[in-house]
Amino acid sequence: MPPISFDATILSSSIEYLKGVGPFRADLLRKELQIFTFKDLLDHFPFRHVDKTKVSPISSVHPSSDYLQVAGTITGFSIMGENRGKRLVATLKDASGELELVWFQGISWVQKILQVGQVYLVYGKAGYFNGMPQITHPEMEIYTPEKINGKAFLEPVYPSTEKLKAKSLGGRQIGKLTYSLLSALKERDLPENLPSNILQQFRFPSRFDAYQQIHFPSSGQQHQAAMDRLKFEELFIAQLRLSLIRLQRHRYSNGVVFAQVGNLFNTFYHNYLPFDLTGAQKRVLREIRSDMAQGRQMNRLLQGDVGSGKTMVALLSMLLAADNGFQSCLLAPTEILANQHYQGITTLLKELPVRVELLTGSVKTAARRKILKDLVEGEIDLLIGTHALLEDKVQFHHLGLAIIDEQHRFGVEQRARLWKKAVIPPHILVMTATPIPRTLAMTAYGDLDYSIIDEMPPGRIPITTVHRFEYARATVMDFLRSEIDKGRQVYIIFPLIEESEKLDLENLMRGYENVKAFFPEPRYYISMVHGKQAPEVKETNMQRFVKHDTQIMVSTTVIEVGVNVPNASVMVIESAEKFGLSQLHQLRGRVGRGSEKSFCILLTGMQLNNEARERLKIMCATNDGFLIAEKDLELRGPGDIEGTRQSGLLNFKLANIVQDKHWLDAAKQLALAISEADPTLSSLENLPLKAFLHAQKGKQAWSKIS
Ligand code: ADP
Ligand code: MG
Repeated sequence: MPPISFDATILSSSIEYLKGVGPFRADLLRKELQIFTFKDLLDHFPFRHVDKTKVSPISSVHPSSDYLQVAGTITGFSIMGENRGKRLVATLKDASGELELVWFQGISWVQKILQVGQVYLVYGKAGYFNGMPQITHPEMEIYTPEKINGKAFLEPVYPSTEKLKAKSLGGRQIGKLTYSLLSALKERDLPENLPSNILQQFRFPSRFDAYQQIHFPSSGQQHQAAMDRLKFEELFIAQLRLSLIRLQRHRYSNGVVFAQVGNLFNTFYHNYLPFDLTGAQKRVLREIRSDMAQGRQMNRLLQGDVGSGKTMVALLSMLLAADNGFQSCLLAPTEILANQHYQGITTLLKELPVRVELLTGSVKTAARRKILKDLVEGEIDLLIGTHALLEDKVQFHHLGLAIIDEQHRFGVEQRARLWKKAVIPPHILVMTATPIPRTLAMTAYGDLDYSIIDEMPPGRIPITTVHRFEYARATVMDFLRSEIDKGRQVYIIFPLIEESEKLDLENLMRGYENVKAFFPEPRYYISMVHGKQAPEVKETNMQRFVKHDTQIMVSTTVIEVGVNVPNASVMVIESAEKFGLSQLHQLRGRVGRGSEKSFCILLTGMQLNNEARERLKIMCATNDGFLIAEKDLELRGPGDIEGTRQSGLLNFKLANIVQDKHWLDAAKQLALAISEADPTLSSLENLPLKAFLHAQKGKQAWSKIS
């Protein structure tokens, strides 16, 4: 048997060299569809197939018809309209009725070739226009009975773009290129990568056959089998890769050992903890503690809904580090948040011999120099800050634990930079308040260990959420006034919707003026915060709201992350239909933090599509972040879920982790079993996998993997 090779095949050739492509079209294919190689063309899958052996009667066309094929005689045509409305309209007639065929482009050419009285086979997307069934820009050919009988296959329909269509690279031409490529391929060009027992278990076709059948199926069943196989392959390879990374780290990576629970932890826990931990906080803390005592590096994702009390878990973990003689750092995504953590933590620790410092972009040179010096000398135990912590100048004496708050604002590269700040990589705890559905978390972050706080601190009064239309604005403002007069504070959030920052800012300013008209000084004061402000201005405005000098905070979504003002009890979200579910939930989490009953008011225009309606309904019905995340996943699909987009791992070409959950589960289970039984993939059975992963390594951006 010749050695299996996945890298040196014809398929890695540049698309330019495929017959019928050439440099100009290759350039278009690269730009428009990211097709660089022969293999990329094979991976450009048809989104559906049409059965061209089927001819529908014209009378079966209805307003929501899809693509279909009809056959009939052209009874006449004429040119109508002017300028951009100019079109050629022909009438096609069969035994059951009549249909209009319409062309807006290429009119003179169509006019020349269209023959009145001729019978045509016509294919296209059918629908109704002005009460008439019609097909716009149909594909036409002269009808002969053999055409129907001869076409014993399902014709693929490929995604393309307007630009490509204009350069004769529409779906049909792409199909032709793919067909000729596939006909030229030999079995060894698409070697098998799955172990034979998996192929047998699911009765999967070979990889070579699957590629043939997914493009040009000989039957519906064969197409389905090909589809299943390739979906499985996609999921399985991704899961296997994650599983191997995780296993490697567990087996071979060094980690600092936090063996003891010492004085600091115990003193704080018994004397200064302001409340009892929830059961979930305790459990998570145990998981973290045991992870950090193993002698290997911890890489853990901590999920917990807004307000579930992640900060206390972080603080206690940092005390553990200090007890074991290590420094730790806490990274926040914004200066406001870093400040807030710093204030909160220094207050909590004020009786303990722990030195806490804050390092952000606005710390002045002299102070910064001192911090950096003390840090490298080991005088500082706990450093809180923003991205500024990642700079090379920031050197620790012995960093043992790095905690990243609100993970979705941090890229993977940034996490990697933290690793390099100590000889033995520090333990890493990534905390996120974006509830990620379990399915997704395990898929996207399969290489991370995973803890979850699924219980809220006691005594929270649930937030009441309502949806109001624009025209009820005055009533909403009256409600805000009554809450403010009771001593509460209010957020009013504006979306970032326009393409341009300038327009967004104008939109916000208009909103601000509007709010001001309802709430005039000196009785009411308003803070405004947005992304274009200088950090000092932002901070001042924020602090005025925190100190209750202002009653209203008008803002864009910059306050989305983590800000804590317990006295704020009303959240108004303007143009709420423009926000995704997860974001709405995040925003709502800013209220309901104090002892007062809180409200979230979703203001929208009258025009709502079904999905927006559904989102609003869910928001009004539940406060459960995980439920909302599941719904979000259902509504939007995995590609759009905040925080997972950059992982790249969820951008499967064929598989959909919601709809193909059964394949995902199977893939996960098998990947785990194989990586545990044969972590180096050295058994004869697993050699194809090893070769495949090896060849992929160069092509795939490994940094994309969390
Ligand atoms: P998040 O998980 O969103 O970061 P925080 O850590 O900011 O949540 O906690 C939200 C609020 O709940 C804070 O005011 C915090 O002091 C309080 N809190 C945290 N844990 C508990 C608990 N076990 N019992 C009572 N209050 C708690
Ligand atoms: Mg937080």
